[in-house]
Amino acid sequence: MKLSLSNGIFSKMGINENFATIRQIGFENIEFNMKSIKKERDTDVYREQKALASSGLKCLTLHSATLHIKDPIEVHQAVYYGKISLECAHALGVPLMTIHSNVSKKLPKNIREKCLQEVFNKEIEPFAKNLGIKLALENLSYNSTGFGKNVEGLEEVLGVIDNGSMGITFDLCHALESKETDNLLDKYGDRVCNVHMADKAHKPFTEAKPELAHFLKRLHDFGYNGPITFEIAHGTLIDEIAKSKTLFDKLLSQF
Ligand SMILES: [Zn+2]
Repeated sequence: MKLSLSNGIFSKMGINENFATIRQIGFENIEFNMKSIKKERDTDVYREQKALASSGLKCLTLHSATLHIKDPIEVHQAVYYGKISLECAHALGVPLMTIHSNVSKKLPKNIREKCLQEVFNKEIEPFAKNLGIKLALENLSYNSTGFGKNVEGLEEVLGVIDNGSMGITFDLCHALESKETDNLLDKYGDRVCNVHMADKAHKPFTEAKPELAHFLKRLHDFGYNGPITFEIAHGTLIDEIAKSKTLFDKLLSQF
């Protein structure tokens, strides 16, 4: 398993300072979160590409910009967010993009299905396939505005959008908050291709709590060897991030 840090935590910094701070903490790998692009101007992807190349960091995954559609009229905007994210992933040479369902949990089921088809089946999936980028659907938190926090919800989404190659981004913080860790692992353990790692409320783990040890053991038993991506709250102190990294360097060396 490869330790990585989501750069969304430093999204208020300019991109060069963002990458430099990650290097200072000692990380070699990142997940690029589209939140760290200030104002969407499509050509900004070239600036990010240059900054990444000179940082020496390796970008393992990219987190798509998302819009949890509340009304079908917003479909075109969600499609734009998805496509510019794919363009950025392509520019950064990233093979995997984390996605949300992009539909609000408040939409009725039949409209959810229509929006999922419009966004993914018609637009995002062919675009991703053309660029050779794999998509990985993330389990959301119970307090997210989006749809898909448990097996039932994810099965509904996958039932519409899965073309046979959809992976899963397993967010441990969301799974702990919704008490779904084992249910989700039972169902999707062998499809996980990215992990968002944090304790509840996106706090970094600074000790090997039983639920963390249990999760890592189960992941290992599924043969997982992909990214363990710290996705932690804004305002987390650098010292805490470094302490958590030291813990994971030790924990992951066992696998
Ligand atoms: Zn996440």
